[in-house]
Amino acid sequence: MAVDSTLPSPLGPPAHERDAKALQFIAEMTKNVDSVQERVLGEILAQNAETEYLKRFNLNGATDRETFKSKIPVVTYEDLQPEIQRIANGDKSPILSSHPISEFLTSSGTSAGERKLMPTIAQEMDRRQLLYSLLMPVMNLYVPGLDKGKGLYFLFVKAETKTPGGLLARPVLTAYYNSQQFKTRPFDPFNVYTSPNEAILCVDSFQSMYAQMLCGLLMREEVLRVGAVFASGLLRAIHFLQVNWKELAHDISTGTLNPKITDGSIRERMSQILKPNPELAEFIINECSGENWERIIVRIWPNTKYLDVIVTGAMAQYIPTLEYYSGGLPMPCTMYASSECYFGLNLRPMSKPSEVSYTIMPNMAYFEFLPHDQSNPSALSRDSPPRLVDLADVELGKEYELIVSTYAGLCRYRVGDILRVTGFHNAAPQFRFVRRKNVLLSIESDKTDEAELQKAIETASVLLKEFNTSVVEYTSYADTKQIPGHYVIYWELFIKDPANAPTDDVLNQCCLQMEESLNSVYRQSRVADNSIGPLEIRVVKNGTFEELMDYAISRGASINQYKVPRCVSFTPIMELLDSRVVSKHFSPALPHWTPERRR
Ligand code: AMP
Repeated sequence: MAVDSTLPSPLGPPAHERDAKALQFIAEMTKNVDSVQERVLGEILAQNAETEYLKRFNLNGATDRETFKSKIPVVTYEDLQPEIQRIANGDKSPILSSHPISEFLTSSGTSAGERKLMPTIAQEMDRRQLLYSLLMPVMNLYVPGLDKGKGLYFLFVKAETKTPGGLLARPVLTAYYNSQQFKTRPFDPFNVYTSPNEAILCVDSFQSMYAQMLCGLLMREEVLRVGAVFASGLLRAIHFLQVNWKELAHDISTGTLNPKITDGSIRERMSQILKPNPELAEFIINECSGENWERIIVRIWPNTKYLDVIVTGAMAQYIPTLEYYSGGLPMPCTMYASSECYFGLNLRPMSKPSEVSYTIMPNMAYFEFLPHDQSNPSALSRDSPPRLVDLADVELGKEYELIVSTYAGLCRYRVGDILRVTGFHNAAPQFRFVRRKNVLLSIESDKTDEAELQKAIETASVLLKEFNTSVVEYTSYADTKQIPGHYVIYWELFIKDPANAPTDDVLNQCCLQMEESLNSVYRQSRVADNSIGPLEIRVVKNGTFEELMDYAISRGASINQYKVPRCVSFTPIMELLDSRVVSKHFSPALPHWTPERRR
């Protein structure tokens, strides 16, 4: 496994004959990046030549890069909102795509508080499936014997809605798990899951998790890898076990399913799987009843070779906790994808999380890169369009924002991810995920930006008015020490009349008001998924934020340019803030959330 990661190297001979085709495909794609990209752009532009969008920019059927780059603007979601809204309202004319929009994928990115709607077409599902099919052949190069057991994956679907025009709107993974490609997948010894489809496809997150955990426990000896999409999902599963092990052990001991599981298809499927096993129940009680949950994953699933979770980007905050629960198992981050488009995979899955790089597959879409100027990160003007760099031309060590043009009709769309080039595999650049632009707080798929936080503070502060109190300064912190994680907001208050200070109850209500104001992904995680805990306000002593500034200046910040950080994570700063806390308040109830969009 010790490979010199600085050298472009072939992946090595396939571990199994059945992997040869996939590795050959990766080799071809990564050797011919530029020609594949040229072909992909040509196909996209030919396919969508008659769309309203491309016609608007007078592309006149051209399919070459130069014309495309000179005529088509770089856009954000907000720019495309009118077109997307028309499609959502039922306009079936070829607006962005000549192929019918099959559904909308709801991104975890938000616009005006609601999830973004990403149009997709039927053939994209095959492209995603193709990327998935490359993952195990790569993993097999590093971890032998994965066909000798099963994967315990906690996979979930979320609520679906319909747009006014009748198109489905749901997260990309919900679409994938509900697809024929997934539901009727042919048997693959390298992709056998402990979770039955009936459990994965149940929208009730408690019942789904319960059944998946139960199956994982019943098949504990067979489990070779434990995973979820993101690290936060796996930690939620561990927390679920902490809360529910007694009931799970009871089911295993008696061979009967908890009456809380009311979903008929899960009950039917579990009746085939669940048989009384008092010995296993005893084992689970022994492991789970102790205070110490260190290495619980390998204690319960002793044959686990790795954790299949993404811990790059916002999920890096969970690495220490996962190391604690798994006794330091490797955490390969296998792929990099989004609702707009699946991008690529990690060709060295066993590398340390901090060294993970993704290789973008040039067949997935047409990719361009906006050089990311750290000194002026928002520089992008319509008057002097920036020069976008092609996938084959990015430079080692430089940072870029990813721009994508998809078969489904997104053209030169800013994904919002900042990537750094760390090396090459054949001619294909490899990228470290640096960060997503404008994300301040994130616990799982929620992404809260500075403007949303500011608005939430303003909404909540209205409750303080009758107490003649205002918020003078604030900052925030994503507290993931406990599961589920929660947002912590530090407030410094100016209370004009201490005899009429806001009560505890009012400050608790402020927490709830903030939650009500946050975007729908946050509220869904709170209400439907229970994956974010109640928002907390910590009121700090007067003068605390001045001390924070003094501290920053003592560490070299310029007094003229000092701005209060709206999110903190640096330990000494946290310690300073926490040592000045005078009261703590939590949201007393759940905010409102329904699957329906507000607009
Ligand atoms: P969504 O469209 O809601 O699926 O979110 C997609 C976004 O999640 C991407 O644009 C990235 O910001 C983030 N993301 C996806 N995969 C990874 C990964 N492997 N590492 C870090 N961030 C990721």
